[in-house]
This record gives sequence, structure tokens and C-alpha cells, in this order.
Amino acid sequence: MKTQQSFMPGKVLIDKNTISRRVDEIAQEIANEYKGQDLVMLALLRGSFVFLADLIRSLFEHSMPLTVDFISVSSYGDSVVSSGSAVIEHSHKLKLKGRQVIIVDDILDTGTTLAAVKEHLLKEEPACIKTCVLLDKPARRNLPVTADIIGFTVENVFVVGYGLDYDDDYRYLPHIAELDGTKSND
Ligand code: 5GP
Ligand code: MG
Repeated sequence: MKTQQSFMPGKVLIDKNTISRRVDEIAQEIANEYKGQDLVMLALLRGSFVFLADLIRSLFEHSMPLTVDFISVSSYGDSVVSSGSAVIEHSHKLKLKGRQVIIVDDILDTGTTLAAVKEHLLKEEPACIKTCVLLDKPARRNLPVTADIIGFTVENVFVVGYGLDYDDDYRYLPHIAELDGTKSND
């Protein structure tokens, strides 16, 4: 007899209308601060792609033009536990020197990813780098990293949906759900 662990999305923690309202508030906040400036949004792939897509369209509604680029970072593989190191697999193409940069990520967890990406980008001497995350999970932080803009704070649970995956699944969910682990014997 073998014990298997399988994971499924469970309780909805943040529904899609709540996410949508908060994304619009964040867009308003960014537009107020950056109106008339040369703004680059650097999104961390792959988890932030849904948040970024909604955010930039909301920014358009708030008359805030911007440029988008992407950085691909991996840390989790198929696990629910952070590997503790962030590997930059593909870097951005845009020049950042003297520009206003906002790093966009899905979730700030241990802080490893944002710290590594910020350090990587600072070498290019942007005018300013800020960070914007949809979710903040402060309970698991092991570096002194905070985000400048936070959508929601979540408890110490593994979450999926709205771009966030478990083992490449569940990114398509329109809401944020807690991942439930169940043990079965066979
Ligand atoms: P950190 O480097 O801060 O530990 O982790 C950041 C990255 O880990 C996030 O960009 C995200 O990809 C992944 N991550 C951290 N917590 C969660 C979570 O609860 N759910 C999912 N799907 N990914 C997470
Ligand atoms: Mg990520």
C-alpha cells in the first residue's frame, strides 16, 4: 500500500470581483504617481502574467501609457516549497537607464525572487525601481524585503489561480484559491 499526496484547489480566498476592484485601485495609485513619466513595467514570468494584463489595461483607463518587458525567473519547480534561490532564465530587452521601473510579481513569499531581480536591475541605473505584487505572504519572509504596492496579504498557505500555478496547473482560475493537500492510500 502506497500513500499518495494529491493537491487540488480548495477554498476561494479572493474572488474575481474583489481582485478586479483592487487592481483598479492599484492602477489609480500608479497613474497618480507616474503620470507624465516614462514608466517601464517589468513583469516576472510566469506567475504575474494575468495580473499584468489586467493592470496595464486598467492603467490605460486611467490614461497612463507605459512600456512592458519580461524577466523569466524560476524558483519552485513542481514543489510547494521555495527552493530558496532565484534563477534568472531570461532577462529583459529594454534599456532601463534613467527610467522609472516597476517590477510586477504575483506573490512575495520568502523575498528571494524580488531581492535577486532588484539587485540585477539596479546595475542598469534606472531612475527609480519600485515593486508591485498582487499578493504578500509575510509569514515566510527570510529576507528583509517589502513591496511598495501590495494587492492583498495572504496567510501562510500555498495559493493558486489568477496566474499562479501548482506544477503548471490552475493558472486559468479567475480567483485565488488555497491549494488543498489530500492523502490517499492505494
Ligand atoms: P519568493 O522568492 O519570494 O520565495 O517566491 C516568489 C515566487 O514563488 C513567486 O513569484 C511565485 O512564483 C512563487 N510562490 C510563492 N508562494 C506561492 C504560492 O503560494 N503559490 C504559488 N503558486 N506560487 C508561489
Ligand atoms: Mg513567480
